[in-house]
Amino acid sequence: REILAEQDPEIYEAIELERKRQFSGIELIASENYVSPAVLAAMGSVLTNKYAEGYPGKRYYGGCEFVDIAERIAIERAKAIFGAEHANVQPHSGAQANEAVYLALLKPGDTVLALKLDHGGHLSHGFHLNSSGKLYNFQHYGVDRETERIDYDNLQRMAEELRPKLIVAGASAYPRFFDFPRLREIADSVGAKLMMDMAHVAGLIAAGLHPDPVPYCDVVTSTTHKTLRGPRGGLILCRAEYAREIDRAVFPGTQGGPLMHIIAAKAVSFGEALRPEFKAYQQQVVANAQALARSLQEEGLRIVSGGTDNHLMLVDLSVLNSEEITGKAVEKALDNAGIHCNKNMIPFDPRPAMVTSGIRLGTPAATTRGLGEAEFTQIGRWIAAIARDPQNQALQEQTRAQVLEMASRFPVPA
Ligand code: PLP
Repeated sequence: REILAEQDPEIYEAIELERKRQFSGIELIASENYVSPAVLAAMGSVLTNKYAEGYPGKRYYGGCEFVDIAERIAIERAKAIFGAEHANVQPHSGAQANEAVYLALLKPGDTVLALKLDHGGHLSHGFHLNSSGKLYNFQHYGVDRETERIDYDNLQRMAEELRPKLIVAGASAYPRFFDFPRLREIADSVGAKLMMDMAHVAGLIAAGLHPDPVPYCDVVTSTTHKTLRGPRGGLILCRAEYAREIDRAVFPGTQGGPLMHIIAAKAVSFGEALRPEFKAYQQQVVANAQALARSLQEEGLRIVSGGTDNHLMLVDLSVLNSEEITGKAVEKALDNAGIHCNKNMIPFDPRPAMVTSGIRLGTPAATTRGLGEAEFTQIGRWIAAIARDPQNQALQEQTRAQVLEMASRFPVPA
């Protein structure tokens, strides 16, 4: 750190400001987390200097014997965590993991069924500006208007009509479990392959707290930096029969040299995920999400689908019956109070994506700091008070002081 401060004070300053921001607020962005010092150390290591195109034992560069050790360990740990036949730990990100799977399993123009973006899906599941939406014929299923859970009967009908090559499950903002036996049944009934993008819930799956997609899916993709609490990056698990195609689709299909420092950091985080403490952490993530949802409900807010099975929830602000109370306004008001979250469309949202009627809240990051149900119950009260009166700056300042006090009691593990 001293070397950086001396050589490049501008960047050092930016990093220090971000460090303070992360330490002084309460992070409720559902896709974020705090990695361990060991994961940070692997990321900042000399492995960043090494080119290693190819796979362990089959590289296009010399001098790969030590990075091979790191990548082999990452692969074996990923397989052990999820009980998978094959793992590719090279995707630079979740979106690139998905891109590689589409390249491996599809031809341009093939039909794919995935969850709608405004019902919780992800850009890399066929958004028109994403390569997935440009190259393949993505059609979208959604949630039921009443239950706000995936409408599997309608998905079955769509599959029969559209005969997709691939069905994609997984989401960025869906608070309920996925029904993998049902998804497999639907896929089999039309001869489609099944993929789960478990980016958000990978940590819960690793801990056995979310139904396991691996026995039912042909391919499972993930990010490594959300509930799984590793470095930013992607991961692909698949059945042995797809291993060759998947590996070729990652390299040379969509990427050049793998990020060996990130792969080493993935290995470290996978090692952490195999320890008993990781299960206890994930149990607390879920318990905290339940406590936060309950607290918000007691304060009169509506939680989409009536609650959550996982680490995140969508709060419907439209029940507050005010033109001014939008996801955008509440996100900003909470930010001023040191509570960080993101505006998010709720299913059938009449407001546009940059305004929205909802916010998405998640517990993984704050749980890593050690916050428990008592703290999350209090956070729910703060959020509700601010949401009811997002223009009230005095309230935001007063809450900010309380947030700072709470945050100071729970240091970030770095
Ligand atoms: N898939 C899902 C379900 C996600 O939620 C995300 C990120 O939010 C991604 C893929 C993309 O991951 P990345 O940002 O690493 O490309």
